[in-house]
Amino acid sequence: MAVFDHTEFDNHESLHFINDEPTGLRTIVAVHSTALGPAAGGCRRWSYVSDADALTDALRLSRGMTYKNAVAELPFGGGKAVIIGDDAVPKTPELLAAFGRAVNSLSGRYITAEDVGMSVEDMRHVQQQTEYVSGLPQSGQNAGGDPSPWTALGVFLGIEAAVKARLDKDSLAGLTVAVQGVGHVGVYLCKLLHEAGAKLIVADVNGYNLKALGESIPVEVVAPAEILYANAEILAPCALGNILTSATIPKIKAKIIAGAANNQLSTLEDGARLSARDILYAPDYVINAGGIISVSHEYYGGSSEDKVRADVERIPARLQTLFAEAIETGRPTNELADEYARRLIAAGRK
Ligand code: NAD
Repeated sequence: MAVFDHTEFDNHESLHFINDEPTGLRTIVAVHSTALGPAAGGCRRWSYVSDADALTDALRLSRGMTYKNAVAELPFGGGKAVIIGDDAVPKTPELLAAFGRAVNSLSGRYITAEDVGMSVEDMRHVQQQTEYVSGLPQSGQNAGGDPSPWTALGVFLGIEAAVKARLDKDSLAGLTVAVQGVGHVGVYLCKLLHEAGAKLIVADVNGYNLKALGESIPVEVVAPAEILYANAEILAPCALGNILTSATIPKIKAKIIAGAANNQLSTLEDGARLSARDILYAPDYVINAGGIISVSHEYYGGSSEDKVRADVERIPARLQTLFAEAIETGRPTNELADEYARRLIAAGRK
């Protein structure tokens, strides 16, 4: 398994492969950059088909976190942990404790929180072993708790900004949004979109999540294989990454793609493919920073929900700047965002 020659290797500062035989923990912690602060990013637990897939995910996600934290102006570098595990097998407290010890062994170079497959409750177990953890249950009016509602709020505000830029509309009323994945973030996003008067088309591979959402707001459900190509003005990917490819992009009907999922573009060229089709793409790590903003406020302490909200409300302005530059120059939004992030990181290194 290539590491330094890996196509996704991007001068990552360090990679940690940790095996804990008694608990079955196998985790890869990728520290992409500490130029702007400790490498922060959630932990994903997923049924990877191979160790190589897990490594690819860790490399891509950790780089994305560096860019996300830089653009969100947080005092964090970027990192990510992946736990290789079978979704169908419950996580044991012992496995979570072993993960906590793994994080602690990095002495604060990496700060963890929840991502796909991990919960606020899981972070409590991790916290027994390390202080380098955030996304813990909220206490009082302090910042903290599940970051998903904040991610959803940032995505919702970003969709409004994209609708203004691409469709010249001030309201989502009457527009249709196709939401792929109605898990932690997707469900909060759907509720905000519904309150704003948007119609919803949704898909999920988890029937329970679909049923729970359908009982609270009206949604049209389509098969997972159809959601990317739904008849909607806006596509909001809120499941997993690698969905915007040379094969899927030609069939997409939406004029805007703006969602929470990390690494939506399969390759950088897919950003240009979207741009060539005049589909406005909100770079994932710019629009989905709400959760890490909450995590940052919680981790450094002394903050409040109001302060988190104020920072999340700064996301649409960043997108507006990118959209305006993309429209003016004809360049893809993902390239402009990457350039901006790299400038901030380089300045931090100095
Ligand atoms: P989640 O696991 O709670 O929800 C994901 C949902 O997508 C699940 O309901 C799952 O069944 C569904 N799904 C998986 N594959 C699918 C497919 N092929 N088609 C349709 N649905 C599918 O995760 P989440 O916390 O809601 O995060 C969603 C995405 O947003 C992830 O990519 C995550 O990395 C990203 N993200 C989340 C946060 C956060 O605060 N939770 C922050 C930033 C980015």
